[in-house]
Amino acid sequence: MKDQPNGTTTPEPDARVRSTAMIDAGRVTRPHPSWSGSDLDPEHRPSLRSMTAEAVTREGVGHTRLRLEALGRERASGRWSPWESQLRDRGAEIRRETLRDFEGYMSRLVAQLERHGVVVHRVSTAGEARETIGRIATEHGVTLIAKSKSMATEEIHLTPHLVGLGIDVVETDLGEYIAQVAGERPSHIVGPALHMSRQDVTDLFSQMKGERLPADPDVLAAYARERLRADFKAAQMGICGVNFAAADTGTLVVVSNEGNVDMVTSQPDLLVAVMPVEKVIPRLADIGTLVPLLCNAANKEFSTAYQTLLNGPRRPGETDGPREFHCVIFDNGRTALLGTPKEEILACIRCGNCQFSCPVFRTLGGGHAYGTTYGGPIGAVLSPLLGDASHDRDLPFLCSLCGACADACPVKIPLPDLLVDGRADYEGEQPRGLETRGWGLWGWLWSRPRLYRATLLAARVAGRVLPRAFLGKLPVANLWATGRTIPDVSHAGDGRALFQGEASKRRHPGANTGDR
Ligand code: SF4
Repeated sequence: MKDQPNGTTTPEPDARVRSTAMIDAGRVTRPHPSWSGSDLDPEHRPSLRSMTAEAVTREGVGHTRLRLEALGRERASGRWSPWESQLRDRGAEIRRETLRDFEGYMSRLVAQLERHGVVVHRVSTAGEARETIGRIATEHGVTLIAKSKSMATEEIHLTPHLVGLGIDVVETDLGEYIAQVAGERPSHIVGPALHMSRQDVTDLFSQMKGERLPADPDVLAAYARERLRADFKAAQMGICGVNFAAADTGTLVVVSNEGNVDMVTSQPDLLVAVMPVEKVIPRLADIGTLVPLLCNAANKEFSTAYQTLLNGPRRPGETDGPREFHCVIFDNGRTALLGTPKEEILACIRCGNCQFSCPVFRTLGGGHAYGTTYGGPIGAVLSPLLGDASHDRDLPFLCSLCGACADACPVKIPLPDLLVDGRADYEGEQPRGLETRGWGLWGWLWSRPRLYRATLLAARVAGRVLPRAFLGKLPVANLWATGRTIPDVSHAGDGRALFQGEASKRRHPGANTGDR
């Protein structure tokens, strides 16, 4: 270590220190579409239509869907027992309380962090965040970084930036490590490798090791642990995310299940915590509500195995912990939402429960086909609102508006309302094309009973005399029919007539039955 004029210390640059865990990752060949890769350029991603069409036909997607359904999470997502409902009410209130005085809590947090000796960098854009972290690493001669799971670092595309600076970065959460070895992005907020089967992981690690490993989770986990342990010892810098940042004490709270966060935050001499602004909470005591709420929604657990509370760099007499501690707080378009109905999305605690509950997310086999950091309902709302997200504006259409996500959300975010708002924003920005005019005409016709009945009659006649394939090629119909099967319209309106008949029978029991 080198002493710096400001009293901090800098590790000696050591070009030989490289990741042990990633040393043989170059041997891995796992075919995957470009849009699931860790190097996806969001501005040049394929269209949503082509990604989703490819996703539903990909090998393995059906297995992922069945695995997700076997977990039963979609059925359990919206059920809240009495004690869970109380926790949910309180958690939702804490998050709204934070939003009501957002800047007040944020300035208290920054002041407390600095009082503890943390160097705070409050930046605006994703680019500023990754450049700040890259600068800290290069100024300290860092060649290896051990990182714990953090969606915030995915959002700012941190790892490709650091790798571009010649720095090795190793993910130390097992699921993230698996995704990194495969060259893919996380596919779920709390289950990064949820799209992969046990066999997929066995194949990956076997390729890396150069010999066949048994498909035994204990063996596979031990293989990863052994390789990662070397990197925990060798890394000169640790990077962690933040689940909650308590404004009253300046404590950063990180929850995990594997102990890797404790290693990342205690072993390297240099630590950088990365958080988007909405991680702030009013009081440390609030984690008594928010941590069980998060863990219950994320994993159906009351608590995670580890809760790491960070209160600044190592103090005199302490035997571990970073000697230098930075906290990068980035905005990326969030504070512009304050005071608008969209600020609700800043209450999110990143549990991933809305993703489990979403039939579209499950059918696509996870979040990759959304082409963004955050998939599922949270992603379809949040991603279009972040930074320069013009390429993500169409995401709210990846939704059936079934409402399951709202039932599943532990902090009561009205996700379907926000999705509808997002659609309206997108439509408002689009030139009014043929499809929009077609839907307008349809709305006008069907709001007039006579014209409505005339269109049903026309559909019945067309359905009886024209082949369905031909109907699907007609103007306007062809826009709807892309990727869908044209239904049999030869009996269009019969269901309504039948319903009217049943309703009439209920209103006039005995009518037409001869028992009057
Ligand atoms: S929107 Fe709600 S359910 Fe979805 S990740 Fe955020 S807190 Fe969880």
